[in-house]
Amino acid sequence: MLNWIKRRLGNNDLQWEGPVVPEPRVQCPCCDYISLAERGSYQICPVCFWEDDGQDVDELDAPSGPNHGLTLRQGRRNFHDFGAYESDMAKYVLLPEQRSRFRLQERQL
Ligand SMILES: [Zn+2]
Repeated sequence: MLNWIKRRLGNNDLQWEGPVVPEPRVQCPCCDYISLAERGSYQICPVCFWEDDGQDVDELDAPSGPNHGLTLRQGRRNFHDFGAYESDMAKYVLLPEQRSRFRLQERQL
């Protein structure tokens, strides 16, 4: 989700600047990188391309509609094997060397 910022000019008019991509603060349920600004806002993870519909690792076997019906368990396994939640999405994700701008908090599930 993008946020817009506005700046007050010297003459008190407001000027819109942006959109601004917010700092990632929360963990992707699929790749475990801290790559999302918030949870459940259908943001697409730049690391694994999982679309965050709010499902979390306590529902590993529930199909995720926005992610072509894959479960988180399948997505996590695909990320491990192909570098994306689905092998077809590997061409869209960051290269492994570009992931370093995000922090990884790996979970063993
Ligand atoms: Zn991810």
